[in-house]
Amino acid sequence: MEIGVLDIQGDVAEHISILENLGARARKVRRTSDLVGLSGIVVPGGESTVIGSIMEQRGISNKIIELNLPVMGTCAGLILMSKSVEGKPGLIPILDIEVKRNGYGSQRESFETDLEIKGIGKFRGVFIRAPLVTRVRGGEVLASFEKSAVMISDGKNLGLSFHPEIYGNGKIHNYFISRL
Ligand code: GLN
Repeated sequence: MEIGVLDIQGDVAEHISILENLGARARKVRRTSDLVGLSGIVVPGGESTVIGSIMEQRGISNKIIELNLPVMGTCAGLILMSKSVEGKPGLIPILDIEVKRNGYGSQRESFETDLEIKGIGKFRGVFIRAPLVTRVRGGEVLASFEKSAVMISDGKNLGLSFHPEIYGNGKIHNYFISRL
């Protein structure tokens, strides 16, 4: 199985090494031709406006939709996957949720906390200027923090408002690839 990691911004190398440690092959995705033959793609965190505009310019977002490629989006990746980002659809609107960018506010721009994740157990989540999920209309909430969903799955797609790659624990990546 080969998994793509969108190589525009973020912890690309960390995602690749976690996937490889789990026994998957991993490929950096920079253009649409890199998507051919993949079983899924990880969209790392970063700045969603920057990642989104480059993806759009290069036709990567449309190709992901056309191929129906399962996405694991983290932080900025979750924003891009949301059907409503402060009223406007994200670029790959495959999760039926509403998010507010930087929604945890300036007091808590970045923080980490122990999450309890359905089917996975305890996981140390790192939130960096994270989006706040303000509404979930579809899919399954796998973890919440202070009453807001922070991890949602829908079919093979998985969205996280936190960064799962920081502590190098592969449980969340494993959850994604084991369902592909
Ligand atoms: N604040 C960023 C955004 O709005 C997301 C931050 C992140 O991916 N860590 O795109």
